[in-house]
Amino acid sequence: MHIHLTEFNSTLQVSMQTNFKDLNICKSYSQVIIISDSTVYSLYGQALLDQLHAFHVTNIILDSGESIKNINTATNCWEEMHRLGADRHSLIIGLGGGVITDLAGFVAGCYMRGIDVIHVPTTLMGMVDAAIGGKTGINLSRGKNVVGLIHQPQQIFILPHCLQSLPDQEFIAGLAEIVKYAIILNPLLFQMLEENATTILSREPFLIHQLISECCKIKTNIVRQDEKDIGIRQILNFGHTFAHAIEAATQYTLFTHGEAVSIGISCAFYTSWVMQFIDHSLIIRLHRLLKRLKLPIDLPRHLIPEKLISFMYGDKKSVAGQLNLILINEIGNAQLYNDIDPLLILKALNLKITEQNIE
Ligand code: NAD
Repeated sequence: MHIHLTEFNSTLQVSMQTNFKDLNICKSYSQVIIISDSTVYSLYGQALLDQLHAFHVTNIILDSGESIKNINTATNCWEEMHRLGADRHSLIIGLGGGVITDLAGFVAGCYMRGIDVIHVPTTLMGMVDAAIGGKTGINLSRGKNVVGLIHQPQQIFILPHCLQSLPDQEFIAGLAEIVKYAIILNPLLFQMLEENATTILSREPFLIHQLISECCKIKTNIVRQDEKDIGIRQILNFGHTFAHAIEAATQYTLFTHGEAVSIGISCAFYTSWVMQFIDHSLIIRLHRLLKRLKLPIDLPRHLIPEKLISFMYGDKKSVAGQLNLILINEIGNAQLYNDIDPLLILKALNLKITEQNIE
């Protein structure tokens, strides 16, 4: 599968392949720097290296996990690249999950005012979302992805077979973004997830291939219309203002990003209900699906709603002290609402907590 986005400065290409041998790097580069984490590199580093005989290649191997996505790691990468003599004609290849592709994209976007990057996503989260669209970034202690830039990769090279080694928790985390796409844009996809949850969890290759392909199409289609995230792209943020606040308020340690997105989606449903956009029955339908996909729904007990809301004000989508949220009117219909009264969000979160205590 190839999706070409020719509207961007470069021809951005998403390709889904079966083997590292299919990686095709057309341009010549002075050197290639692979940025990866130790887990992923030990699994797939050699297979990637084997395809890069034509290049002078060096590696920057990082620890894994969200906690490395910060300015110190980025600085260390830039220092190391400079020491290695990387110049404006160098290429970075980000090999890993969303943490690595976000960081590698950021490092590439800033180094010498921008060098080329290719993403090789190895998590479901990376394949359906993080590696696509050019958003790069790092976290601040109180704010997720607060520092970053849009830097489109030259190529996104997807090998679904890499998912075979992905731990269950990480695979399931990626499903949260697929549920998000279904909720905001595709009722048929939502129904398909409801009907096939067990097969999806068994990672049936044909179905997973179809899901990745569908999500790549949805995301590239949105990014094509609004690369700079000033219009329709913002609906991809559904559930994420809550999710980012949950992650930051729990020091990025309690949940994977996908798990936080799952809980954030539930919070956004409760807020949509309090705003009288949806019936309560839709919350029940959502929860049924999330549970079948083994995704979490509940806010942690120690995280009080007032604290969560205070973190939401630190999110990128909050402007001039106003809380802006994507909410839904029905499955397949999401919209941005500006300046939401925090008391309504508080009411929604308290209702959610009351119901989760009953269940
Ligand atoms: P991750 O990158 O932390 O990877 C999860 C874990 O899986 C890591 O421990 C990693 O070492 C391991 N791993 C990765 N691939 C593996 C494989 N094939 N086999 C075995 N282990 C493997 O987590 P993630 O969920 O991929 O990404 C989350 C990040 O993505 C967050 O920082 C989030 O903000 C970002 N994100 C960015 C965008 C975007 O548009 N830029 C979109 C969604 C998410």
